[in-house]
Amino acid sequence: MPRFPFALPEGLASPGAPPAAATPRRHHREFAYPALVLCLIVALWLGLTAELRQLHDAVLRSAAERAAGLAAATAENVARTLDDMDRTLGILRTLNRAEPGLLASGRLDLALWSRGRPANAPTLRLSLLDDAGTITHSDLGPAREGQALAAAPDIAAALRASGDRLRLGVPPPGPDGATLRASRKLFGPDGAPAGLAIAEIDTAWLTRHFEATAPEGATLRLVGPDGARLATDQLPATLPADPGGPQEPALTASSSAEPYGVRVEVSLNPNLALADWRRARGILLLAGGLISFAGLLLATLLARRHAELADEQRNLVAILDGLEDGALLAEPDGRIAAHNARALTLLGVPALPRGARLADLVRLQIERGVFGPPDQLDTATRQRLRDEAEHPAPGLVTHTRADGIVLELRTSLLPDGAVLRLCRDVTAASRTEAALATAGDEALAAERARGEFLAVMSHEIRTPMNGIIGVAGLLLDGELPEEARRNAQLILDSASHLLSMINDILDFARLDSGRLELEETAFDVRGLFTGAIDLLAPDARAKGLALDLDMAEDVPRRAGGDPRRLRQVLLNLVGNAIKFTATGSVRVAVTRLDRVPGAVRIGVTVSDTGIGIAPEAQSRLFDPFSQADSSIARRFGGSGLGLAISRRLVARMGGSIEVESTLGLGSVFRFDVRLRARRASDEPGGPPAIAGRRVLVAEDNEASRLVVTRLLERAGHRVEAVVDGRAALAAVAGGEYDVVLMDVAMPALDGLAATRAIRALPTPARDIAVIGLTAATLPAEMQACHDAGMDLVLTKPVIAEHLAAAMADALARRPPRPPAAPAARAPAVENRSFDPAVLDALVRDIGPVLAGDLVRRFSEGAFAQLATMQGRLATGELAAIARTAEALAGSAATIGLMRLSRAADALARPAQPPSAADLADELREVRTLLHGGLDELRLWRAPAGV
Ligand code: ADP
Repeated sequence: MPRFPFALPEGLASPGAPPAAATPRRHHREFAYPALVLCLIVALWLGLTAELRQLHDAVLRSAAERAAGLAAATAENVARTLDDMDRTLGILRTLNRAEPGLLASGRLDLALWSRGRPANAPTLRLSLLDDAGTITHSDLGPAREGQALAAAPDIAAALRASGDRLRLGVPPPGPDGATLRASRKLFGPDGAPAGLAIAEIDTAWLTRHFEATAPEGATLRLVGPDGARLATDQLPATLPADPGGPQEPALTASSSAEPYGVRVEVSLNPNLALADWRRARGILLLAGGLISFAGLLLATLLARRHAELADEQRNLVAILDGLEDGALLAEPDGRIAAHNARALTLLGVPALPRGARLADLVRLQIERGVFGPPDQLDTATRQRLRDEAEHPAPGLVTHTRADGIVLELRTSLLPDGAVLRLCRDVTAASRTEAALATAGDEALAAERARGEFLAVMSHEIRTPMNGIIGVAGLLLDGELPEEARRNAQLILDSASHLLSMINDILDFARLDSGRLELEETAFDVRGLFTGAIDLLAPDARAKGLALDLDMAEDVPRRAGGDPRRLRQVLLNLVGNAIKFTATGSVRVAVTRLDRVPGAVRIGVTVSDTGIGIAPEAQSRLFDPFSQADSSIARRFGGSGLGLAISRRLVARMGGSIEVESTLGLGSVFRFDVRLRARRASDEPGGPPAIAGRRVLVAEDNEASRLVVTRLLERAGHRVEAVVDGRAALAAVAGGEYDVVLMDVAMPALDGLAATRAIRALPTPARDIAVIGLTAATLPAEMQACHDAGMDLVLTKPVIAEHLAAAMADALARRPPRPPAAPAARAPAVENRSFDPAVLDALVRDIGPVLAGDLVRRFSEGAFAQLATMQGRLATGELAAIARTAEALAGSAATIGLMRLSRAADALARPAQPPSAADLADELREVRTLLHGGLDELRLWRAPAGV
């Protein structure tokens, strides 16, 4: 039997032979088993009958031999007895001749003689007869004497006869059974006949030996020389003479007892001798019959099973040959046991010789150029191919044929060490894969190029746009006829709108190419939300919408992150909600989601009762340049980038954004961000790490000067500012400062030269800590700063944390001099209550138009809020004041009115319990700060072109 069900019949394995070729072989095999068994059965029967015949003949032969032996032994016994009788009669005759009257005289007594014979000698009846055949003397005495025997044929013949020999005869049976009689002539002294001497014996003496040794049913006959029957004997048989079957003739043997001419005939019944043989024959025939039946049954079953297997095999062969894959099975010794046609096609060989091995297959492949032109194949490659064939390793390899067909070869080792190899044509798939890979690379490169292009273009467009906006602002600031003013305003509005779009594109491009850096600073989380909502409240009011903010208690006040970007997302979502809602409300809910150590996760939900978004539009809402409906885009405007930017920003802040909306009912946008948790010391009013230093800021750029000054003041330092290097040098030489913040690029004397000059001053002035400020980040420039004698360099834009760290670091290197007396005059910058950097950032974030709008609305709203609070103070709703104050604090911080924000914040968290008088004082201060702040704001507004 084949090891595997799909081992193919020879001839099927080659590609040309159709599977139908299996059919005749199948018939042949189907009948092979019964035919073989039939032959075996015939042979069995032939052998059986021959053996039975031989056994039969042997039984008969041995019976015949036994009959002959019996006859011979009986004849010898008869001869010995007759010898004894003859000798006795001879003695009687000799005595009678020598002394005729001896018996008559009584000197010889026959009865005594008879009794005196040896014990083992046969008993003889002895008598003497006269010439007339009458008994004259007998060992039985007068009982027989006088009896005339002349009528008996043997006696009559003996009296008549002239010769002298022993004669035998059978007298009529007497009461003692059958007798044999022997007689001899008597002669007188003159030689004349003188009667007969006779001896009689019981015939049982003669057949004694026969009865002792012959088998049952055997027959004995004694025949005299004259043909007279002397005695017969038949032994009884226990078995019936013929237990069935053909009659066998009797087996007869004869022998003669010489010299008396007596023939002994023995006959045996052969059927009795054959009885055992017949019994054995019956058993053997039965066994033969059973064996034949079982054999035939087995052969039939085998034939049927074989037919089933052949069917299965044919089906498997059909399946294997129909496979797209090639399959090849090799025995552990490398001999190829089976394969389908496809395997050879794929491996590139037309046929395999019988008993081929894997190594032969490789040789054929090499010859046929499967691995390239055979004469160009180097020895190392040949050797490698041969090694692989001789020691196949399991696994998957891809192999490209010389004609370009790509094959995937999977080799597995079966548990018994056999090798199964499957091969598949993957040419098409591998071409597609290669094409896809190329296309993927190209797409990636195109994507990158697009991002770069967008970033560059947005930047390039922003510069002239700033020019246009600035000039339009200048125009509007001057005297203009009414129509020209309207046109200039139109230019300003359009340019501002365009700039905000460009800002979106720039943001998006930066986010997309991963070049947007998030800030990390501590900020007022609650204030950010209230401020942003307050900014948009006028829009909602204008449309008659309710705008609610619901902020959970546990939303922390301070956290670390990028407030600008968080606000940008919030303004985008809330702005959209207001934009796409005609009636009803917009609700913003802020919750704290979880407290991971060191982080705060804030969840924000913005829901509206607006037009809603169709389900099919929801899926691409966060894709760039997508608007739910192009008619909406025309109606409401917008770049379609807001949500795309929001999603990316939220992702950068460690969260995600999603939308849920029903067309016509409204939308819900949810997002979450992760902020850094802040320690108590970071809370506003907490003790600053380093405070109370005297700091000189030398910076010609006003915005930068204001930012740095403000940050230092907020950190609790006393700050003076100058606008060039020469003034800085003079201030350090004359004044008493702990630290100088020195811009590198300044008119009159640059920061490097000024620092070198400071280091050349006499002590203690020369030992002051100098922190450089530069926009450059190149290592060479950094090195120049250090070479000039700067202790540290800060790169712009300056953020609070970096500044604080730099201050601490610089002061650690150069310990401060003993504190000076309080400064005689407060520096001008200290009076400023407006932080322009915040507004700068806002303009960057949401564009100058919206920012300007917000500022305008803020001033309207702030006075309204002030009025509300004063009204509540009057009616005694003291607790309600805090809410409005919190909102005011947030919105003031949003546009940079920091002092106002702090005052409003103090109002929002009054001492327990707040007294009406305290509140009134604080409200007054808020009002003063509001006026002062707005004045400063107005001053700043013109140069920024808002
Ligand atoms: P745009 O800057 O044009 O507003 P966004 O990305 O912010 O771009 O919004 C994309 C589009 O998603 C909008 O044009 C509008 O069709 C739809 N959309 C955004 N928010 C809402 C909302 N709250 N209700 C209905 N539609 C909205």
